[in-house]
Amino acid sequence: MSTQSTVSIARRASRLAMVGTVGVGGTAPIVIQSMTNTDTEDVFATSMQVAQLARAGSELVRITVNTREAAAAVPKIRDRLAQMNVDVPLIGDFHFNGHKLLTEHPACAEALAKLRINPGNVGKGARRDEQFAQLIEIACKFDKPIRIGVNWGSLDQALLARIMDENAKRAEPKDATEIMREAMVTSALESAAQAEQVGLAGNRIVLSCKVSGVQDLIAIYRELAARCDYPLHLGLTEAGMGSKGIVASTAALGVLLQQGIGDTIRVSLTPEPNGDRTREVIVAQEILQTMGLRAFTPLVAACPGCGRTTSTVFQELAQDIQSYVRERMPEWRLARVGVENMTLAVMGCVVNGPGESKHASIGISLPGTGEAPVAPVYVDGERVITLRGDNIAAEFRQIVDDYVARTYPERASH
Ligand code: SF4
Repeated sequence: MSTQSTVSIARRASRLAMVGTVGVGGTAPIVIQSMTNTDTEDVFATSMQVAQLARAGSELVRITVNTREAAAAVPKIRDRLAQMNVDVPLIGDFHFNGHKLLTEHPACAEALAKLRINPGNVGKGARRDEQFAQLIEIACKFDKPIRIGVNWGSLDQALLARIMDENAKRAEPKDATEIMREAMVTSALESAAQAEQVGLAGNRIVLSCKVSGVQDLIAIYRELAARCDYPLHLGLTEAGMGSKGIVASTAALGVLLQQGIGDTIRVSLTPEPNGDRTREVIVAQEILQTMGLRAFTPLVAACPGCGRTTSTVFQELAQDIQSYVRERMPEWRLARVGVENMTLAVMGCVVNGPGESKHASIGISLPGTGEAPVAPVYVDGERVITLRGDNIAAEFRQIVDDYVARTYPERASH
C-alpha cells in the first residue's frame, strides 16, 4: 500500500502570496478551499457553514458578497466565527458592484483575508478599467491579496472581441477553441499587469481561469503556468453532481497537479438537495492524499469484493472503520503527531487479504465464502490477533485506538 506515502513532485516555481495566515504558492503545501452556498446576509447560517467547512479541512473559505446587506454581514460573520474559535481566512467573492460595496463598507474589506475579482464582471466600456482600479486601490489600502478569477461563463466580452479581431487578421487563424483558451489566459495576465500598475504588489496576486471542460482546463493552466509565476488556484467550474463532478475534477486536477501546477484547489461539486457541503472538501483532500501530495486522514484500502464474498460483512466493516477514523480525526489531529499517515486495510478474503494487510499499519482480512470464520489482523506487517464472532467491528476499532495511542506521540501543547 502506498496511498499515504507523500511524494515530491517538482512544483512549478511560483511566488508566495499570504492569505491571512495561510501561504499560497512558493513552497507552501497545496491549499484546500471551498465556498459557502448560504445567503451571506444570513449571518448565522453562513457562519455555521463556514465553520463546518473549516472543521472538515477547508483552509480558506469563500463567501459571496453581492449586496449591501451581505457586505454589512461580513464583519459580523467574522466575529461570530471568532466566538466559535474558527479562524479560517474568509475570501469575498465580488461581481458587478464590488467597488461600491467595498467603498461603502470598509469593515467588510477589513474582515476579509482576500478579495476575489472576476475581470469579466467588473464593468463595461470605460467604466471597466476605472472600477477595476478602484477595487485594486481598496486591496492596497487594506493590504489584502486578490484573486483574479477568470471564468469562461463570464469572460470579458470586449477582450474576447479584440482577440477574435486580431485572429481574423492572421494568415492562419486559430480555431474557436484555441481563441477561447487564449482569451482566458490573456484576461488573467492583462488584469494582473493592470493590478500591478495600479500599485498592488505582485506577491499579492493569485490567478485562476476556470472552465468546465477537462481538456480546456488542462491546456489553459499549462499556458498560464508557462507565462507567469503568480500562484494558481485550480478548479474545474460547474463540475456537476455526484460521481460526474468528482471524476471530472479529479481527472483535470490530477493531470495538472502531477505536472507541479496548482498552489490551491477547489472541487466545485453541486450538492444533492440537502446534501452535505463538506463533501467538496473531503474530495479535495482525497485527491491530494491519494496522489501522495498531502496527508489529512488515514485512508482505508478495501478490496472491491467478488464472488468469494457472499456477505456484506466486509463492506460494512470498511465503511464503519472509514467513518470511525474520520470522526476521531479532529481530536487525533490535535493530540497526536503524524496520525494522518496511518494506513488501514479491510479485505474480503485470504486471496489478497493477508498480503495487503501486511502493507498497511493495520489490516484485517475477513473470511470469504467457505473459509474458516476468523479474521486475522496484522499490525505493522505482523499477525497479532485473530478476531472471530459478532463483535469484530468494535474490537477492530479498539485495535486502531490502541495503535494510535502507542504509535503517534502526543503533541507538546496538548
Ligand atoms: S481480496 Fe478476496 S474478496 Fe476481495 S476482491 Fe480479492 S479475491 Fe475477492
